[in-house]
Amino acid sequence: MKAMVLRAPGAALALDTIDAPEPLDGQLLLRVRACGVCRTDLHVIDGELEHPKLPLVPGHQIVGETDDGRRLGVPWLGWTCGECRFCTSGRENLCDRARFIGYDLDGGYAEWVVADERFCFPIPDGFPDDQAAPLLCAGLIGYRCLRMCGDARRLGLYGFGAAAHILVQVARAQDREVYAFTRDGDDVAQAFARELGATWAGPSRAPPPQPLDAAIIFAPDGGLVPLALRAVAPGGSVVCGGIHMSDIPSFPYTELWEERVLRSVANLTRRDGEEFLRLAPEVPVETRVRTYPLELVNEALADLRAGRFSGAAVVVP
Ligand SMILES: [Zn+2]
Ligand SMILES: [Zn+2]
Repeated sequence: MKAMVLRAPGAALALDTIDAPEPLDGQLLLRVRACGVCRTDLHVIDGELEHPKLPLVPGHQIVGETDDGRRLGVPWLGWTCGECRFCTSGRENLCDRARFIGYDLDGGYAEWVVADERFCFPIPDGFPDDQAAPLLCAGLIGYRCLRMCGDARRLGLYGFGAAAHILVQVARAQDREVYAFTRDGDDVAQAFARELGATWAGPSRAPPPQPLDAAIIFAPDGGLVPLALRAVAPGGSVVCGGIHMSDIPSFPYTELWEERVLRSVANLTRRDGEEFLRLAPEVPVETRVRTYPLELVNEALADLRAGRFSGAAVVVP
């Protein structure tokens, strides 16, 4: 089969012909219909996430089809042990031995993929393959971040990419106000945020017009952490949604004081997936996607890095 393969961190993915994977017990063989592009792929390719399987087929927002025509989503969480203290307490996202798709296990930048059936989700009807793909990481992780914000009414989103463009729709459906923060001068992203229902959009360094109840940081820039803490009201939370961030600069304790909370969100649980994929058609979430043929996944990744599209990039074999 055709696949885009990472041979060593720091190198571009290479188009290769490799053997199609064979499913083991409990695994399904899926024909890849679409695979979303995620910033985590860049962190893997750049070597910021260490010790990937090599050679590796990245890609972890997979819409696949079984031989009997079922559409299933394959997310980042590919396997957990089921036995450790995290797995047995509803926190399988933190499993000691978790294995991740497109990192420890081959992913979806290929024509076929195998996945443990217990970690696949049915794709809701009404979402075409390409528009469903970004739900599987951008949507799921965004949803988990939103859960960590509790009932925050005024919600800040730092970085208005794939995750934020989904989350603003969910937040609006829940009667929250969204304040979107983008890179300085990114008028396109700010206009996109307003179009999708953000109450306010502006540059990350600008204070919001009102103190926020919570903020989620999707951009991989640690410098945003003190800014977001300054933007939230006493008791407010700042949630870091990315798997990797540049270092966080030091900041005075007064900016954390008054019970502000700073936390990260790691991975997902199957419960997050089930809840979010039930919610997405109710909102209804409409994803904005730019599709690329499988062979051009490097171009999609470069466009993601440079912020050259609004919404999400999706690769279609
Ligand atoms: Zn475990
Ligand atoms: Zn992802």
